[in-house]
Amino acid sequence: SKPSYKWRRVLLKVSGEALAGDQKQNIDPKITMAIAREVASVTRLGIEVAIVVGGGNIFRGSSWAGCSGLDRSSADYIGMLATVMNAIFLQATMESIGIPTRVQTAFRMSEVAEPYIRRRAVRHLEKGRVVIFAAGTGNAFFTTDTAAALRSAEINAEVVLKATNVDVVYDDDPRRNPNARLLETLTYHDVTSKELSVMDMTAITLCQENNIPVVVFNLNKPGNISKAIRGERVGTFIGG
Ligand code: UDP
Repeated sequence: SKPSYKWRRVLLKVSGEALAGDQKQNIDPKITMAIAREVASVTRLGIEVAIVVGGGNIFRGSSWAGCSGLDRSSADYIGMLATVMNAIFLQATMESIGIPTRVQTAFRMSEVAEPYIRRRAVRHLEKGRVVIFAAGTGNAFFTTDTAAALRSAEINAEVVLKATNVDVVYDDDPRRNPNARLLETLTYHDVTSKELSVMDMTAITLCQENNIPVVVFNLNKPGNISKAIRGERVGTFIGG
């Protein structure tokens, strides 16, 4: 039988790609609503939820750097702004079903959202509010996975729950190798030594250094987000 956990404070990472679903638009409102409903079901149990949103559905700095004179740092600023768009959308959806939600940005845009203030973020969580961290780490050359690792360490979240479009982690590409095995448990070392593309190296080593486990799971399966937050085993568990 699979062990389960009782998390009290979690950090949910939602990639931009996941928000897009199979829509032509950048954001599928059915997906933001599904996320909101599942998060609502666990905040009612008293579990504190912080969210880091990605921006890849709108803009990915690394793919645009070099185009028409756009340097990587400027491209990454655009990418970070994309995460703010997603965050505001997700906040609106959450509040529409009665979940009090605050967005905090890694760089100031105080007319739009609060600036990131660690102690204030923790206070919001203690009051049962969901906090969405936007604009990644605020630094070019980083990713929102690294932002998830960083914020989880800062706010003492017990786990990073990485919601993706893929099912679980395989030991090989299941499209090419029919014998590819699903991996339910991995060590940090497995991920770094085999260069498994579940999370970038900066993010995974930051989690390792701070002993924060990572659960990578498919958010397209209904119920998976709330299961992951409630500590039921879904997807792949990465730990010490
Ligand atoms: N980004 C950045 N610094 C950060 C986080 C994100 O510069 O700390 C930029 C980067 O250009 C990235 C984009 O924002 O491509 C969107 O973030 P990410 O690719 O991590 O989103 P996801 O893959 O989760 O959708």
